[in-house]
Amino acid sequence: MTTDLVSIELRKAGRSRIEEVDFNNLPFGKHFSDHMFVADFADGHWQNLQVVPFSDFTLSPALSSLHYGQSIFEGMKAYKNEEGEVLMFRPLENWKRMNESAKRMCMATIPEEIFMGGLEALLRVDADWVPNTPDSSLYIRPYMFGTDTFLGVAPSKTYRFCIFTCPVGAYYTKPPKLKVETDYIRSAPGGVGYAKCAGNYAGSMYPTLLAQQAGYDQLMWTDATEHKYIEESGTMNIMFVINGKLVTPATSDSILKGVTRDSIIQVVRSWGIDVEERKVSIQEVIAGIEDGSLTEAFGAGTAVVVSPYSLIGYEGKDYMLNEVPKESSLANRIFNFLNDLRTGRSEDSFGWMHKIV
Ligand SMILES: *Cc1c(COP(=O)(O)O)cnc(C)c1O
Repeated sequence: MTTDLVSIELRKAGRSRIEEVDFNNLPFGKHFSDHMFVADFADGHWQNLQVVPFSDFTLSPALSSLHYGQSIFEGMKAYKNEEGEVLMFRPLENWKRMNESAKRMCMATIPEEIFMGGLEALLRVDADWVPNTPDSSLYIRPYMFGTDTFLGVAPSKTYRFCIFTCPVGAYYTKPPKLKVETDYIRSAPGGVGYAKCAGNYAGSMYPTLLAQQAGYDQLMWTDATEHKYIEESGTMNIMFVINGKLVTPATSDSILKGVTRDSIIQVVRSWGIDVEERKVSIQEVIAGIEDGSLTEAFGAGTAVVVSPYSLIGYEGKDYMLNEVPKESSLANRIFNFLNDLRTGRSEDSFGWMHKIV
């Protein structure tokens, strides 16, 4: 199902760069496909919708978003099924979230037909870039930034919306070691933690570096007030299996509402397993690791799907998580289910896959 939702000008690249890319060795975010979608917001409406060769922008030194940070993004993926058709996973959820981020950052919002029309047009010209090797996919990066050339703290009146894509391989990493962060915060009530805005990631880099220097891989953020309740980790939501139930922090304005998180909750509920969305304290997690009632802890996000943790460090002490055999691991069952769904190997019973034709 596809219509040309909006009129988009197409200027194709003179030659494809696809031969330069080794699809059996795809580091994350390094190879960019031939084209990008670009649209500009000016005079109160979106205009100049185009698919053009991936290339540099020319920007003013006074570009408002470089100074005051009106810059938001999304992350999503496209897959190929065995018939070679290109499928996207729940793209409308990313569109909705992008507009929630835009509202919080006082930016222009993007109509559905421009977001979806841009995605479809781009994926159609760059369909060859969607990998069909196991566990690989095309990572899609929609983003928007203010383009006024004006030095003054005020919302930009003009914006650029762009989408480009990168073929990415499987994320073969060792299960990461997490440090519970109790000094720095990522977000606070009333803040911008639920928005996928650039500044949230800049602010997280220094505390993450400190944790890495101490031998950890990532941070587990806690609430800004008491540092008692778990929020999320890096660019992932956090989930636990406690007494056989899936337990995850309830979302709030300080937690990003992951599409992966929401999908996992629906899938696990459909399997008849209880899911609790509520406050989860560090104390509960540590007690659960110590008495064996907590059997799994994993991150959930588009880039990795699920990422089981090996260790949680809290106040100078490390708590090891036992490796769960693949047959009995809920994280593994979820991973396989979502992977099969996304590559068209299992029936799309939730109606989540969006085919590009
Ligand atoms: C993107 C992101 C997530 C995961 O969201 P998905 O939609 O599942 O990819 C979680 N937390 C943060 C902070 C993020 O930026």
